[in-house]
Amino acid sequence: MRLRPHHLLCTQSYSGKGYDDAFVKNMDQLTKKLRTEKSTPVDIVFSTDDLCAHCPNMLGTDLCRDNEKVKAYDEGVIRHFHIEEKTYIYQDITRKIRENMTPEILKDICKNCCWYPISACRRVLSGRE
Ligand code: SF4
Ligand code: SF4
Repeated sequence: MRLRPHHLLCTQSYSGKGYDDAFVKNMDQLTKKLRTEKSTPVDIVFSTDDLCAHCPNMLGTDLCRDNEKVKAYDEGVIRHFHIEEKTYIYQDITRKIRENMTPEILKDICKNCCWYPISACRRVLSGRE
């Protein structure tokens, strides 16, 4: 599975909402796999990934309709958690992210995301509403 850095966060906090039916169906499948398996290799890519591939906002390779914003989320995850473009075990790297996450770091990464005020992200990822 290919994931861009900030999707290491979104896949943890996803709660069934998304951009359209195809996006939600794909997210349901991928997050079920990631949440039930014990050791899933994920290739981190600094580009569009397997979530973007089913998203109506993907305009092309490495091009999201909100490219500037989503690149900033990626950059925040890379900077705060020292993420590299390589293969990780999803369950290990997301546990390390949760252990080191604070409400301030989450806000720094996600404050401009439309889901940040309304989704489960803050509760799941930083323990605060
Ligand atoms: S909004 Fe952009 S970064 Fe997010 S899944 Fe869609 S194409 Fe990918
Ligand atoms: S606030 Fe947005 S970018 Fe951050 S984890 Fe939630 S959906 Fe992903």
